[in-house]
Amino acid sequence: MIPPRVRFAPSPTGDLHVGGVRAALFNWLYARRHGGTFVLRVEDTDRERSTPESTALILEGMSWLGMTPDEGPFFQSERGDLYRARLTQLLDMGGAYRCWCTKDDLDAKRAEAERRKSRYGYDGTCRGVTEAPSPGAPFVVRAKLPQDGEVLIDDMVKGRVVLRNDQFDDFILARQDGSPVYNFTVVVDDIDMGITHVVRGDDHLNNTPKQVHLYRLLGADLPRFAHLPMVHGPDGKKLSKRHGAASILAFREMGYLPETMLSFLARLGWSHGDQEEFTVEELQTLFDLDGINPAAAVFDHKKLEWMNGRRMREMSTPELLARARPFIERAQIDPDLPWVPRALEALQPRANTLAALAEGLSLFAGRGPVAYDAKAAAKFLKAESRALLTELAAALEATRPFAAAAIEETVRTFLATRELKMKHIGQPARVALVGGTASPSLFDVMEIFGRDVTLARLRAAAAWSGPEA
Ligand code: GLU
Repeated sequence: MIPPRVRFAPSPTGDLHVGGVRAALFNWLYARRHGGTFVLRVEDTDRERSTPESTALILEGMSWLGMTPDEGPFFQSERGDLYRARLTQLLDMGGAYRCWCTKDDLDAKRAEAERRKSRYGYDGTCRGVTEAPSPGAPFVVRAKLPQDGEVLIDDMVKGRVVLRNDQFDDFILARQDGSPVYNFTVVVDDIDMGITHVVRGDDHLNNTPKQVHLYRLLGADLPRFAHLPMVHGPDGKKLSKRHGAASILAFREMGYLPETMLSFLARLGWSHGDQEEFTVEELQTLFDLDGINPAAAVFDHKKLEWMNGRRMREMSTPELLARARPFIERAQIDPDLPWVPRALEALQPRANTLAALAEGLSLFAGRGPVAYDAKAAAKFLKAESRALLTELAAALEATRPFAAAAIEETVRTFLATRELKMKHIGQPARVALVGGTASPSLFDVMEIFGRDVTLARLRAAAAWSGPEA
């Protein structure tokens, strides 16, 4: 196989979101799999809607995921000379023509088509016209398309799509101000950059026949096309903010791991047997365009969260600490405090994101008196807890070492001699220690706080609990 040349061609008009990243990923993986080249081209010809901020977000999102382009980023805004040269070439060859129809003329024709309930398409008025109606009259440039016959697209995902040429009108290549339009620049660039496979969202499928005609007019070979199915939410509707975050950097902020994102995004429309999770290396050796499912892919946030948590649970404590460091700092906790690794270990079984992990650490950040959640305190710090908490504190005075296993033994013996169960002391002690009812294992919590804080907090909660009946 000739090494493929593929590209990701985002328009910098907003965030880089899930559908776009998935297109980037499939291109990148295809290039990696077949020893090809991944080109990044920023399609910023729409001056009104393109912003440098958006370009920066796209580049940052890609670099977070490790999708480094082999060539580029190229910017269409810097390639005007090439587009002008190709436009002149098409005009000279008769593949395009100047159109002086005014907006009013066209609006009237469109309104008439609407009135007759027929499809509007440019009627070719200027096809044979070579002279401007008046000197310097503004014009657009239109492609001169065949009016009969068919165009065949042999899509690698959708299969064969045949469209009749009489369904397409002579579309605009350059506006009155000379600025070229997407369907033109995309083809000029794909030809110029030697793109062999155009892999993109199927929202572009209706542009493809126009682009196929331009390849012909420009005398270039067609690339292969692969149009990716849309990404839907679990309700079957197009993925949007309503379904939760859709911008890739929002996932970084929430503490998802880039490797989880890659594995998860790859499975949006692609499969390899029934394997659910992949390392980046596996993706780079297994991915292929023929594994793409033409049906819409479903983005399931819950599954992503679960996958992320699972990956976090596979990490050693030093690795987890290294990955969570920026999140811990953001939670205003010093990651180098001595209790942090032990607390991470305790939180690891339940945290599904790095942000949740850092948030969990805040349970241990304060060592003074703890504020009780009113509801939890009312429910669990009752009169009958008073003696129990005091006696538990006394029993823990002698525990050596003050570590989870020994603490657990002390607590179990304490309960057994009183014929009580864990449920009698679990929640009161938890509220005493962290102020609420959610925390990692009680024994871990005690170990992390150490004896002094543990005893002080148990006793403070005992004092807070109502007097004995
Ligand atoms: N710039 C186009 C977009 O962001 C993509 C063009 C393409 O991939 O052909 O939708």
